[in-house]
Amino acid sequence: MSKITMTTPLVEMDGDEMTRIIWAQIKEILLEPFIELKTEYYDLGLTKRDETEDKITTDAAEATKKYGVAVKCATITANAKRMEEYKLKQMWRSPNATIRAILDGTVFRAPIMVNCIKPAVNNWSKPITIARHAYGDVYKPAEMMVPKPGKVELVYTQADGTVTRELLQEFKKPGIVMGMHNLDDSIQSFAMSCFNYALSVKQSLWFATKDTILKKYDGHFREIFEEIFKKKFEDDFKKVGIEYFYTLIDDAVARVVRSEGGFVWACKNYDGDVMSDMVATAFGSLAMMTSVLVSPHGYFEYEAAHGTVTRHYYKHLKGEETSTNPTATLFAWTGALRKRGELDGLKDLQAFADKLEKACVETIEAGTMTKDLFALANLSSKRHVSTREFLQRISERL
Ligand code: NAP
Ligand code: MG
Repeated sequence: MSKITMTTPLVEMDGDEMTRIIWAQIKEILLEPFIELKTEYYDLGLTKRDETEDKITTDAAEATKKYGVAVKCATITANAKRMEEYKLKQMWRSPNATIRAILDGTVFRAPIMVNCIKPAVNNWSKPITIARHAYGDVYKPAEMMVPKPGKVELVYTQADGTVTRELLQEFKKPGIVMGMHNLDDSIQSFAMSCFNYALSVKQSLWFATKDTILKKYDGHFREIFEEIFKKKFEDDFKKVGIEYFYTLIDDAVARVVRSEGGFVWACKNYDGDVMSDMVATAFGSLAMMTSVLVSPHGYFEYEAAHGTVTRHYYKHLKGEETSTNPTATLFAWTGALRKRGELDGLKDLQAFADKLEKACVETIEAGTMTKDLFALANLSSKRHVSTREFLQRISERL
């Protein structure tokens, strides 16, 4: 059998700990035997980031702008403990934050569904993708304690000196106060990413805010989404047979729970933070959750939603076989390969990505899985195997 060839390199961002081990195994067992893999390799492992003063992360993000599609392994976000462990020169910023700042975009998270793991919500038969806005609101606030009676106002001073004031509260007793903001640019790119993503997966887009209460603030989000939809996406949505649906956030929550799934749910920053944990947990496991950063300029970066699985890595270092679930990392690769295939018109590469995902899902459904799924799987005959064996079983099925 001749190997599938690629025309444009994929930006490959290697990472840390257990996921770095899994990364190499996926390539060895499931990709390299079938594809003439063409990648531009960036090692985002913490050691290399430290050695290059984090230039490697910026370079990898810039390469993504050049080629359009990247696949990223989970990476350690440095903290005080890691500074000590890796003898770091500096507490480097989270690579995801650096990459997001350069590519500017929205993160979409979707569960990988297998028929032997039932979502906690019975009627969810299709995945629900959460699209979380990642800028502003309560994540970039100004807060104050109000210890004594007094007046709190919002004051906006324009460059020409014009002042606009809005009374927030006339405090008669102690209290607290907060101001928050967002930017038209950021909301527009959030909307663009959501509409583009919904089109690319051919699923309807839901969006919800609390614009009955925050008439100006949340109302502005609603207006921007509506305007962009009408101007740029309405016709394409009709062609594909999907819809854009706006409702109030509380109504959305009720409808999501009653739904069968199969749509993209765009959430403001806080709603997305809270709802993505709810949705991920209700679907079963973080190890079965894909994540893709979609920039408004059309760049894609695929990764797993989980971290570097440190606890398993320390076992691995002691020479113990681990049963870490490689599914989300594998789907990061298939997502990136499929997108590369779409952009370059490589039908066989797209078909390979589909078949590999199918082989992985069917391996689990046939009863061979990693330990984390073993407890959840509703099967009369099942067994848990090591990561390597799991990948080998997928390869046989493929
Ligand atoms: P984590 O790596 O996601 O692991 C948390 C726990 O979840 C694990 O100990 C394991 O539970 C379970 N788990 C996660 N993924 C699994 C998988 N594929 N297979 C089986 N079990 C899995 O989160 P963390 O321990 O909070 O973070 C570890 C490191 O990852 C940190 O340095 C953090 O900065 C980094 N991180 C990176 C990213 C990213 O790059 N996108 C995201 C999050 C965290 P058991 O131990 O009970 O088996
Ligand atoms: Mg959260």
